[in-house]
Amino acid sequence: MAGIYIHIPFCRKACTYCDFHFSTNFSYRKEMISAIIDEILLKKSDWQEFTFESIYFGGGTPSILEEDEYKKIIETLKNSFSFSAHLELTLEANPDDINPMAVKKWNAAGINRLSIGLQSLNNEELAFMNRSHTAAESLIAVDTSLQSGIADISVDLIYGSHLKTDKQWEFELNWALNSGANHLSAYALTVESKTALANQVKKGLIPETNDEHQSNQFMKLTELAASNHWDFYEISNLCKPEHRAIHNSNYWKNKPYLGIGPSAHSYKDKTRFWNASNNAAYIKKVNLGELPQTSEVLSDLDLANETILTQLRLSSGLRIDTILSYYPKWLDESMPALEKMKQNQWIKIENNTIKLLSKGRLIADNISAELFIS
Ligand code: SF4
Repeated sequence: MAGIYIHIPFCRKACTYCDFHFSTNFSYRKEMISAIIDEILLKKSDWQEFTFESIYFGGGTPSILEEDEYKKIIETLKNSFSFSAHLELTLEANPDDINPMAVKKWNAAGINRLSIGLQSLNNEELAFMNRSHTAAESLIAVDTSLQSGIADISVDLIYGSHLKTDKQWEFELNWALNSGANHLSAYALTVESKTALANQVKKGLIPETNDEHQSNQFMKLTELAASNHWDFYEISNLCKPEHRAIHNSNYWKNKPYLGIGPSAHSYKDKTRFWNASNNAAYIKKVNLGELPQTSEVLSDLDLANETILTQLRLSSGLRIDTILSYYPKWLDESMPALEKMKQNQWIKIENNTIKLLSKGRLIADNISAELFIS
């Protein structure tokens, strides 16, 4: 099984923290959609051996697409590839694009899951992030989606900004866990270089993120996930039982995925491909009938390190034998570090699997870095 990712590189406003690939200039939108469709056709023959079980429209803001645009993309995909009987078809949507008519049209086109970028339920914080919607729009987005025919809803929230008090975070979590959504992605605010946020921090206009503040809010997330019986299956992702995201789970299991659109990545046969992340260059290349991508064959060490990074973040943990299949000396070489991590109660090892404990989840990336093979 495999997944398809479609990158729609347009947003109405630039969120201050965002380092994804997007543009607020819509003037060449028609050319972009046409290039995306042409890229699907160009890649069609190379991906015939797979049955796809997910399509994910990400971005950018795919909910800005017109009905004829997303219908044409879905139709081209359906005519080009094989799909499993149950296809998870997700659209990332911003709350200001959600209304009963839009949801009904998405549903009629086969979209059966929405990933709604709420980020905050506080207007001051939304303004600080330069989001395009208000808290009031966020608060009705889930209900509108449910009542208009799409029942699988994921919501995104960001924690740990200087404006997110512990009280506000607790309110947002309690709201999200009881909103009718069956999936929540919760990310710590990160100051990525070359973003407006990084610039604001550099100029001293806002404080740097505070580790202790973010850790406290992560612990509150852990506590409320448990008391609400949600499945906290990945460090940033939790769901009601039986509602794990198929698309994202496949990334973490190293399954193949096909990426379409500027900056999209693909992976198959131990090879990673990445598309040009410049819109004009992407369109030009596709219009010449050429694949807009660069590729790299991953070595066993690359695969081992990627597996450490992704699988340690999962509640199911990191299978030791998977890493040994790439690099047989790994366990012997890592034993001193693993022993120290066990003593610090960062990890536990059982059934040939390394799992992070609560304290370890706070420093997952550091733990991965210590276990990487160089
Ligand atoms: S809407 Fe999403 S992709 Fe667009 S700028 Fe904001 S965070 Fe980035």
